[in-house]
Amino acid sequence: MAFVVADRDGSILVSDTLPTPAGDAFAETADRIANLLNRYLDTYGKICGIGIGLPGPVDAERGIALHAANLGWEHVPVRDAISARLAKSLPIYIANDVNAGAIGEQRYGIAQGIANFVYLTIGTGVGGAVMIDNRLMRGASASEMEIGHVSLDPVNGRQCTCGGRGCLEMSVSGKAIIAHARQHLADYIDSCLSADTLSTREIIRAAEQHDPLATHVMQEAADTLGIACSWCINLFNPKLLILGGGLIHASWHLLKPRTLSTLRARCLPLNYEAATISLSQLVDGALGASALVWHHQNEGGRA
Ligand SMILES: [Zn+2]
Repeated sequence: MAFVVADRDGSILVSDTLPTPAGDAFAETADRIANLLNRYLDTYGKICGIGIGLPGPVDAERGIALHAANLGWEHVPVRDAISARLAKSLPIYIANDVNAGAIGEQRYGIAQGIANFVYLTIGTGVGGAVMIDNRLMRGASASEMEIGHVSLDPVNGRQCTCGGRGCLEMSVSGKAIIAHARQHLADYIDSCLSADTLSTREIIRAAEQHDPLATHVMQEAADTLGIACSWCINLFNPKLLILGGGLIHASWHLLKPRTLSTLRARCLPLNYEAATISLSQLVDGALGASALVWHHQNEGGRA
């Protein structure tokens, strides 16, 4: 869990991390979060609100995490639990972390002044957010833009955790490139990769040194990422497509040529010409959560 205290122009006054609370009872996690927040409130007298970005769908109006699978949270009333533990009454705004990241990019990052953009984040998994005319696209059950579970090959594709097959997340993500490399280890006896040390970092490093298996895995990922980008550009006609997340930032130098050529080949010309592709700029994801405060208080926005 990452924390920042930031001012209105995005300057970070302090940042902290706490271990991710997988398996803990939520009350303990809320205690630890609130302890740190209360210390901030003591130190910085002018804090005017708290923004929280959470994985998975959230009910922003009621401040509830609906389904955060990695944390084991189902319908957890995050806002009320934190609020009850704070020494001072403050507005608390909650959003899905990818939506918070998109708001952060618009306020402080690469999307400043841009009303129509798509934000794709690719790390361990895949997430997405869509800003249309300065409004975040929101679905009927807060589960919009689940592009990671759009299937490229529903018949023969790799089994996904969602129950489907061939989902994007099983082709382009940290876990996907590891699974792909593992699947083909026996076919590439001259590869320096080994089953014991397979990690995204190892695969990227091997691809930089032109290892045949690692190169194959990264090229497939690049092609598939290009297809996913073309979906975003053809569907939403954005002015900007932002690519973020750990895998993208670690390997864009490897992915970029094939991703951009695949994307170009699959986009409608009008859509392609309107869109710029850029990497996300916000280094600290918690800054996106802090931007929720200004987004709600100044712009009357929703997230
Ligand atoms: Zn899936």
